[in-house]
Amino acid sequence: IKKVMPIPKAHYGGRHTVTLLPGAGIGPELMGYVKEVFRYAGVPVDFEDIDIDPNADNNDDLDYAITSIRRNGVALKGNIETRSTEAGVLSRNVALRNQLDLYVNVLHCVSYAGVKSRQKNIDIVIVRQNTEGEYAMLEHESVDGVVESMKVITRSNSERVARYAFEYAKRHGRKKVTTVHKANIMKLSDGLFLETSRAVAKDYPDIQHNDMIIDNTCMQLVSNPHQFDVVLTTNLYGSIVSNVICGLLGGAGLLSGKNYGNHYTIFEPGTRNTGTGIAGKNIANPIAMLNAAVDMLRHLGHKKHAVLLQDAINKTINKGVHTRDLGGQATSREVVDSILKYIKIAYN
Ligand code: ADP
Ligand code: MG
Repeated sequence: IKKVMPIPKAHYGGRHTVTLLPGAGIGPELMGYVKEVFRYAGVPVDFEDIDIDPNADNNDDLDYAITSIRRNGVALKGNIETRSTEAGVLSRNVALRNQLDLYVNVLHCVSYAGVKSRQKNIDIVIVRQNTEGEYAMLEHESVDGVVESMKVITRSNSERVARYAFEYAKRHGRKKVTTVHKANIMKLSDGLFLETSRAVAKDYPDIQHNDMIIDNTCMQLVSNPHQFDVVLTTNLYGSIVSNVICGLLGGAGLLSGKNYGNHYTIFEPGTRNTGTGIAGKNIANPIAMLNAAVDMLRHLGHKKHAVLLQDAINKTINKGVHTRDLGGQATSREVVDSILKYIKIAYN
């Protein structure tokens, strides 16, 4: 795998069209900020907005979203609410990733010097299997009071995510890959994931490989995170580990995550929160979604605009314009205004 997925070609005039899935909670307001910043900076991207109604009793919205992403190749996404615990009501978030075969999630967890946090100078890349494991969505009640949930691990998916992790390490000059698992208990499923990663590691003699049990990983992340470089793991452990690291370096509002397959890419905030409780209050941190938008611009090849926005975001954070989740006083609006100000300065 060189560059995993093909980059969509720009339309006439060098503009791209991307699918925009605002989702629920704070998603729509954050997308509003992205559009505002893009317009202000003259970013040559047009959005195709698609709302997915999580309460619909059919999948028409989801199918429409999938068709749109297949056409555009790229989407920017907020979290779609799935509150229902009814069997048969699938998480649209999971369904999207599974149906588009976005088999790897990449979360680059890097500290901001300007953010007060529990740990400093963290630089860890999480490479997470994104389409199977506990998210296979295969649960049933076999007899009354007995529920079975299938965790699916396949060699082919374990292999391609492992290869992605080692290729990533090679491309980015990283030294070590740690496979995180629970193969001491789940000997067959996590055992297959671990064994596959060991086999893949043999093709990369210059990159160190070790493994760690998920429980210990959580403890080690909190007490000594600097031992980690690239973390390779299954779907559910990946979600847990992502949230632990994001918590250590500033919470849900900062980092962005990328979902890759061989054909399509979805960019979104790293911890995939809906933020229902803080929606509409002008207090949500807009940075994670804006960082996701910057990732998207880099992916599309709009490097000049990506750098422009990234600089404006970094200056805003380092000047201490922080929302409450980072211990600050600023509103979402004030953070965005600061970013606009730095874009203006850069253009003058
Ligand atoms: P809920 O499930 O109640 O909607 P989430 O799981 O979406 O909450 O989010 C977890 C926590 O992270 C919540 O306390 C939420 O307020 C916070 N959070 C998520 N996104 C952001 C953000 N962009 N800015 C500030 N806080 C956020
Ligand atoms: Mg949540």
